[in-house]
Amino acid sequence: MLKFHNTLTKKVEEFIPRDPKKVTVYCCGPTVYDYAHIGNFRTYTMSDLLVRTLKYVGYTVRYVMNVTDVGHLVSDADEGGDKMEKGAKREGKTAWDIAKFYTDAFLRDSKNLNLLEPDVRPKPTDHIPEQIDMVQTLIKKGFAYTTDDGVYYDTSKFSGYGALTGQSLNELKEGARVEPNPRKRNPTDFALWKFSPPVKDTSGRVQKRDMEWESPFVLPGGRGKGLGFPGWHIECSAMSRKHLGDQIDIHTGGADLIPIHHTNEIAQSEAASGKSPFVRYWVHGQFIMVDGEKMSKSKGNFYRLADVEAKIHDPLALRYFYMTAQYRAFLNFTWEGLEAAQHALSELRGKVSLLQHDNTSNLEYSDWSKGARNLFQISLEEDLNLPKALRVVWNVAKHKLDPREKYKLLMEFDRVLGLDLDRESLTPEAPSEDIQELVKRREALRQKKMFGEADELRKQIEEKGYEIEDTASGIRVKKVK
Ligand code: AMP
Ligand code: ZN
Repeated sequence: MLKFHNTLTKKVEEFIPRDPKKVTVYCCGPTVYDYAHIGNFRTYTMSDLLVRTLKYVGYTVRYVMNVTDVGHLVSDADEGGDKMEKGAKREGKTAWDIAKFYTDAFLRDSKNLNLLEPDVRPKPTDHIPEQIDMVQTLIKKGFAYTTDDGVYYDTSKFSGYGALTGQSLNELKEGARVEPNPRKRNPTDFALWKFSPPVKDTSGRVQKRDMEWESPFVLPGGRGKGLGFPGWHIECSAMSRKHLGDQIDIHTGGADLIPIHHTNEIAQSEAASGKSPFVRYWVHGQFIMVDGEKMSKSKGNFYRLADVEAKIHDPLALRYFYMTAQYRAFLNFTWEGLEAAQHALSELRGKVSLLQHDNTSNLEYSDWSKGARNLFQISLEEDLNLPKALRVVWNVAKHKLDPREKYKLLMEFDRVLGLDLDRESLTPEAPSEDIQELVKRREALRQKKMFGEADELRKQIEEKGYEIEDTASGIRVKKVK
């Protein structure tokens, strides 16, 4: 019997989907204005393990994970700069180019971590009419109001507001850390649509935003059309509705999405559809920490998958590392921890490589193997207890068992683990001395600010099949696969 912790009830509950065979899952994906870090990927891997578990126990799953390519505002108070435009300014590109570049980077990392491809990966820029439609419905039903800078959701109109945090609207209002926006009726109200603010260049000319759309929302007093862009939360409500229907079984994300993003998704979706609950099971993953603090972009204490690949080489060692803790526990990141995971994974693969695996498809399991298989499944069913499942894997790997049977069993487990147990481990390949020499010479030129010459050397290094990356913590040389 499959059980998950449901944030809505704060209990570990038996999982009963709306349809006994088919399960719908929505995961909030990345905002592609920068690289995702390995904290973010812990959450996406948790979601992946959940989907793989559902499939393993026999469900058909429809899995949707968005890529947020439209800029939502930096602060939860709907104020501050727009993330995509910020990325565009930083790199001297358009917001569209930024979205494309970081989407590709995210997809590459996801693939290297063996994250399953979702059935749909919707983008809000492809769903502007759906979002506008939902905002219009909310206005018509009296849940939204228009001000001179946008359309806002009136949280006092939705009686269940805050159910996910277990706080009432009044408690949430008092707890709101941000300066109240004078345009909002309640501090917890949030933007559904923002009108493009006039942005002026240095000569005072009004600049067009890279991303903005016509909308039917009229400014108070009946003035003009509301050229603008959607608020952050509306995209998930509109896209999950389009691709999964008004009500879904499971919604995943990181724990920091509970009080605002997911609270607002519920308010939008349930008010628009009139159906409750929008989501039956809310499953939230806990953070990766560094020295007692949440790994985050704003604190700068983060690593990317590229850092892991440069140092440990095998991205799946990170996947193994994630599985050493249950998803609801904080997981402290250290390089030692990751190296230990790499060793464990290599050892496991070493054991698998010694096993015969011809004609295993028709092989019957012995009672011992059936018992191990059962224990593996029970561990997953107990709120995705991957550390326990890994112990079962090790028991099997070390047990005296017919090699073909052992192979079959371990590879069956790997359908959930996604560790590629049947391949050799990747080991770091040190660049040869001539490459190291070129890297040193390039660095010396860079120190002397002779960038043209340094670039020439970079090209030579690349021609020899290596990639060079300048990072805050130094230079990294990597063999191109
Ligand atoms: P963001 O880019 O901040 O929207 O985060 C993307 C996803 O990663 C969200 O589901 C967050 O909850 C999650 N997340 C952010 N930081 C961490 C962290 N340190 N550990 C685990 N998940 C995180
Ligand atoms: Zn979302």
